[in-house]
Amino acid sequence: MRRSLVAGNWKMNGSRTESAALLQGVKKGMSSASKAEVAVCPPYVLIPLAAEKLAGSAIAWGGQNLSAHKSGAYTGEVSGPMLKDYGCTYVIVGHSERRTLYGENDALVAEKYGAAQTVNLIPILCVGETLQEREANQTETVVARQLDAVIDKHGIGSFRNAVIAYEPVWAIGTGKTATPQQAQDVHRFIRSRLASHDEVVADNIRILYGGSMKSSNAKELLAQPDIDGGLIGGASLQVEEFLTICRAAD
Ligand code: PEP
Repeated sequence: MRRSLVAGNWKMNGSRTESAALLQGVKKGMSSASKAEVAVCPPYVLIPLAAEKLAGSAIAWGGQNLSAHKSGAYTGEVSGPMLKDYGCTYVIVGHSERRTLYGENDALVAEKYGAAQTVNLIPILCVGETLQEREANQTETVVARQLDAVIDKHGIGSFRNAVIAYEPVWAIGTGKTATPQQAQDVHRFIRSRLASHDEVVADNIRILYGGSMKSSNAKELLAQPDIDGGLIGGASLQVEEFLTICRAAD
């Protein structure tokens, strides 16, 4: 049985005060009996605050990115060991905004995935196609290429300690959501791609959907057999929205 995971990607949002209120609200509203796992990924500078506010709760926290390097002369970067030092459980790797706005290619994403696992951070590996790629019927080709870059470098066994997020780029922050069937089809494809290497790994891995998931559409998406939770952007910044999604995953 795969345990659902709902992870909030706050992106570059939130003051200390706003974030403290958001963390308190989520912590207060989460039932301790929740079967779904919940995590938040604040901007780097707010991770110590998350660690302070969420300590002792069932809610995990993580980074939105990490350097491929452990330490050294990499101005502006934050490493896996630093995230680990602040109690992070997860780190998002290869988010489409990193791929498109910061030029992260499959090779770099695979390096970051490995850097995360080296320090026992669980990478949330994001994959997904652009609108142009979907319209050209290249969704599976693109997703397969993104997955294979990691499988080739780190092996199928590395997916025992990883999460995948399918995030169609055209649905991120746009208000457009993949239909439950569209999402399910790609989730099933991802699982079968992994199963061609190792069926047990494929059965156990959690595949999250991300792309304008909100309280009003979460239930239907999460009811799909291969959707094991959500990576939530905009809706993770509002306590009630986020909690409703967490409950739908429960
Ligand atoms: C995301 O950034 O991972 C995301 C899914 O964003 P949104 O929910 O805002 O579409």
